[in-house]
Amino acid sequence: MALQACNECGSSVSSKAASCPRCGNPIAGPGMSVQASSAGRRGKIAGFLLILIGMFIAIAGNPLGGLVCFAGFAVFVWARFKD
Ligand SMILES: [Zn+2]
Repeated sequence: MALQACNECGSSVSSKAASCPRCGNPIAGPGMSVQASSAGRRGKIAGFLLILIGMFIAIAGNPLGGLVCFAGFAVFVWARFKD
């Protein structure tokens, strides 16, 4: 049985508990951590930057720009579902 710190009051709570016994704050299970959503946010920013870079390369006349733009779009959509 693993223990984790409550986000609200900081007390040790069993990872199997649905909520904190001290303050009632719902405990997020594994895979629902804050890290997952921040990774999704990072992916969205990375995808958006790739789309912008791809657009600039395409405007400059390089056909690779469309490919970079498409890759950025794929990362953006992936990050959206992950969030
Ligand atoms: Zn608590």
